[in-house]
Amino acid sequence: MDTPRPHPSGSLAQLHLIDEEKKFSQELSTYVDQKWNLKDAGFNYNVLAVFGSQSTGKSTLLNRLFGTQFDVMSESSRQQTTKGIWISKGKDMKVLIMDVEGTDGRERGEDQDFERKSALFSLATSEVLIVNMWEHQVGLYNGANMGLLKTVFEVNLQLFGSNRGKEKTLLLFVIRDHVGATPLANLSNTLKADLDRIWQGLSKPEGLENCKILDYFDFSFTTLAHKLLQPERFEEEVALLRQRFIEPSNPDYVFKPQYSKRVPADGLHVYAEAIWEKIVTNKDLDLPTQQELLAQFRCDEIANLAFVTFKDSIRDFRHPIESGQLVENLGPKMREIRDVAIKSFVKDASRYHAEVYKRKHAEVLTKANSMLESFFVGQLKNLHKKAVSQFSSELQQALKKDGAEFGAVSATAKDNATAFFLQGAAAIKLEETDWEYEEEQFQLEQDLQEFAATQREKELSKMLTGLEKQIKKDLEDPIKLALDHPGPGMWGRVITTYHHTMSRAEELLHKKARTFELGQEEQQTLEENLRRQGWVLLTMKVQEESVDGLLLYKLLNRFEEKFQRDERGLPRVWKPDDDIDTPFRKARDETLELIPLYAKIKALDPTTGEEFSLESTDDFDFDQSLRVLSETRQQELTTQLKRKTDASFVEAKRSVVSTQVK
Ligand code: GDP
Ligand code: MG
Repeated sequence: MDTPRPHPSGSLAQLHLIDEEKKFSQELSTYVDQKWNLKDAGFNYNVLAVFGSQSTGKSTLLNRLFGTQFDVMSESSRQQTTKGIWISKGKDMKVLIMDVEGTDGRERGEDQDFERKSALFSLATSEVLIVNMWEHQVGLYNGANMGLLKTVFEVNLQLFGSNRGKEKTLLLFVIRDHVGATPLANLSNTLKADLDRIWQGLSKPEGLENCKILDYFDFSFTTLAHKLLQPERFEEEVALLRQRFIEPSNPDYVFKPQYSKRVPADGLHVYAEAIWEKIVTNKDLDLPTQQELLAQFRCDEIANLAFVTFKDSIRDFRHPIESGQLVENLGPKMREIRDVAIKSFVKDASRYHAEVYKRKHAEVLTKANSMLESFFVGQLKNLHKKAVSQFSSELQQALKKDGAEFGAVSATAKDNATAFFLQGAAAIKLEETDWEYEEEQFQLEQDLQEFAATQREKELSKMLTGLEKQIKKDLEDPIKLALDHPGPGMWGRVITTYHHTMSRAEELLHKKARTFELGQEEQQTLEENLRRQGWVLLTMKVQEESVDGLLLYKLLNRFEEKFQRDERGLPRVWKPDDDIDTPFRKARDETLELIPLYAKIKALDPTTGEEFSLESTDDFDFDQSLRVLSETRQQELTTQLKRKTDASFVEAKRSVVSTQVK
């Protein structure tokens, strides 16, 4: 494992990105994030790589230009530095620099495998490639540098062939130990001619036979004086060169936008490693595909991170909603939580492959919506419940008032409850969702309708019960009075009482009919039922007055009145000469005649003389209802009455005897 060199600022730490075993370091993201502080840089950073033969002063130059601390071969030991690719960050600048070591395999007779692979890797990631060479290497067409450039061109075609003109790379030639005898213009012309020759000699992929070198590369040439022989000029020229890396307003600024490989800093580790994996396993390296894969991977990561916070924020809703409470301001709260998640996703993910990002953005929205939907649905249910209970209490409250009309009251309560529901529902329906509440609204209206109907039924039957009580009360005394005084007009009085009572009840019913919005037919049925019910109550009262002892008592009273009182109503005192037998027989027979009168209600209207009748139903037989005493009971009453009157007769006789004895 490579340990980064300690440095006061820490920003210059360098990483052995790809080691001599061709292993890719697992620490790149840590370095980007913590040591170089580039995590949030997005596209606002640059990448460059340096190429060239061993010991041409590459590392020395990089350290001078960027303040890095790459290993420099010491003058004394002349030991080769570790092979591989080193990466570090420029001091006070957002530039990542890759020092590619050991690219001169051909000079040392090694295979060119690493050279080819590192060229591929550098081209796929860097905007600028510094080609470092001695002045005396210029023009050596068969030298190591030209071999290296041939490799670079070849792999570039492999990488960007079909992508012509889209992502160019800048090749910056730095000619070292420039003595000055040959001007830069000549040197660059020589190099350009050689580059053209190399390009011509390349075997190009099908369809790209005529492609131009400038379709893929821009070239730039510069010289540096001999570091040891002209140290001051060397430093001056390095300082000038440095400006080209840090000053965007410099006409020769190297990091032009068209060179960018469009990899956000926070995705660099994923992208670079994926690229390297493809390269080492000799797989086809299709950059657009790599960028899409990177985008998918990173968008997912970013989305997952956003959802961690999201899930945390929505946790508070679950309990209250499931326990039937209405969460206040649920709509704005959900909107806020969703916005935060989407914004945090957009912030980091929008830099990635546009189409992938667009797709993932939609996915994130859909996922957020579906996670929020259960709260929407839950709150709707609770709104529904609350609306029903609000409706119920408003209805009950309003019906307590005198003259409250059920229809109007329930319509108002229904409007209020529906408005409450709709307002609550609209407030939690988020934009960019397919959430709906029409179904729930329909269901609510249905429920309110049903509830109102049941309530009306209840109120109606309460009212009818009240009426029946009234009827019963109105019938009671007059009937008792009528039956206490049996005689020919008795039933007539009963029927008259019934008529009076019923017309009072019906008048009340008519009044209530408006309240309950009774239909013509319904009202008629209710009236019929009420008349029947009134009649039943009447017969019940009659029965009550005709129970065994009571009726016998009434009859005996009648008998006593006739037998024991004279015409003026005064009590009789029997004298020895009085005829007891005749008055006794008269009183007894008249009383006995009352039994058949009692036995059956005579349903005749005394004022009109018309027969009175009610329609019979399954459980009401009018004729049957007229019968008060059965034959048997009449017999029994007759016998009992006779026995009692006989006793009175004996008593009367005895009273005469006793007065005689005195
Ligand atoms: P690298 O292998 O290309 O990275 O080369 P180094 O930076 O390690 O340098 C190799 C040797 O060349 C060191 O001894 C440096 O002191 C020396 N050196 C560095 N820059 C120059 C230069 O501009 N001219 C000459 N002649 N030597 C240099
Ligand atoms: Mg070096």
